[in-house]
Amino acid sequence: MNASKKCPHCGQWSRWSQNPTDRCEHCQGILDPVAVARQQAREERRQEEEERYSLKFIEINPDDHWFIRFFKRIGLGFQIAFVSIISFFLWLIALLAG
Ligand SMILES: [Zn+2]
Repeated sequence: MNASKKCPHCGQWSRWSQNPTDRCEHCQGILDPVAVARQQAREERRQEEEERYSLKFIEINPDDHWFIRFFKRIGLGFQIAFVSIISFFLWLIALLAG
């Protein structure tokens, strides 16, 4: 379905396929800057959430000194224990709430 939209930049009517990324035929300006901004904000929020919930585990590099590897392994053990406890509590909360 083809629609037309008045370009907010040059004021001319342009063909518009209702895509937020459609550009004006006359000045190449984005026809729906609000939708584009909204989409970008949504995308950024999604990325932030992904970063917040993704846990970064310590990486053990085989080239590290045995001493460094030893401490990294202890750190990793603590991380895994911590994550397990958190998951257990989340599961418990879900169980009690249900
Ligand atoms: Zn235009």
